[in-house]
Amino acid sequence: MPIFDFICGDCGEQFEALVRGSQVPVCAKCGSEKLEKQLSIPSVKTSSTHGLAMQAAKRRDRSQGSERMHAQREYELSHDD
Ligand SMILES: [Zn+2]
Repeated sequence: MPIFDFICGDCGEQFEALVRGSQVPVCAKCGSEKLEKQLSIPSVKTSSTHGLAMQAAKRRDRSQGSERMHAQREYELSHDD
């Protein structure tokens, strides 16, 4: 089910709402329909998960890089004559 983040244009309340079909959500605080749908998901949970994934990818790249360098050094040592 699609959950969107909205910001109320009247009171500035920020909230998540389920949007089903043509159903228009209203502000959880003041009931206004003047809502701004947030396209990106600014949830803290999502960005920190993304950050961890990026860190893991960087760690993986680094270890692969050092493995490559190690293999290259082995190759050079064994072909040193
Ligand atoms: Zn509101």
